[in-house]
Amino acid sequence: MQASVSIKDLSLNFGSVKVLEHLDLDIAQGEFIVLLGPSGCGKSTLLNCIAGLLDVSDGQIFINGKNVTWEEPKDRGIGMVFQSYALYPQMSVERNLSFGLRVSGMPKAEIEQRVKRAAEILQIEPLLQRKPANLSGGQRQRVAIGRALVRDVDVFLFDEPLSNLDAKLRSDLRVEIKRLHQRLKNTMIYVTHDQIEALTLADRIAIMKNGVIQQLADPHTIYNKPVNLYVAGFIGSPS
Ligand code: ADP
Ligand code: MG
Repeated sequence: MQASVSIKDLSLNFGSVKVLEHLDLDIAQGEFIVLLGPSGCGKSTLLNCIAGLLDVSDGQIFINGKNVTWEEPKDRGIGMVFQSYALYPQMSVERNLSFGLRVSGMPKAEIEQRVKRAAEILQIEPLLQRKPANLSGGQRQRVAIGRALVRDVDVFLFDEPLSNLDAKLRSDLRVEIKRLHQRLKNTMIYVTHDQIEALTLADRIAIMKNGVIQQLADPHTIYNKPVNLYVAGFIGSPS
């Protein structure tokens, strides 16, 4: 079967600093992949390359079989949710959700239908007329997810979407993201440094260190059969 996202021999340097080195990763259609590793290991950089927000130094990125290495972000069929919510403060939730679609010239009826569906899935219907300043952190992050959802993208990219939230909200939203994936069945690439998020959400976890994937496997294998001490120390069984 054709991969949903395929990364081939990807390298990225910032000046003389090698941040990603000869990285290969094939992600299946509908798979939930978690990129896990300590701060500074290159997780966000990899996600930004896939999104097209950073130019790669070498290598290729394919989405649904198409080489998108030099495509504009908007033409890649991806939606990205960041750690900080990046909502438009002056617009209502409804406007925040519909803004990108309006700009694209989509017919009004279809915009309304998509906003309604996203609001229903994320349970933010009662919030549609509010401004971001009048929302909680968890509600704002739901709206941020909604902005990717209305675009009907093939691939969702999440960059530590829950790390600004308190523990209770984090676990609630974790459950919701899992439910969202079960419902939409699209490909999700999720960056975190939180082992619990990785173990509960992932079909497969990629453990990263210094821009290299150390191990790529399902949570059970990573936990029980870490390939080296680094992986064991980061997520492996304490035994
Ligand atoms: P992570 O998301 O895993 O915490 P990042 O991908 O943000 O890591 O960063 C990986 C490495 O690249 C870090 O050493 C960071 O300092 C460096 N880096 C990130 N962005 C830039 C940039 N724009 N210019 C120079 N170095 C950067
Ligand atoms: Mg990061």
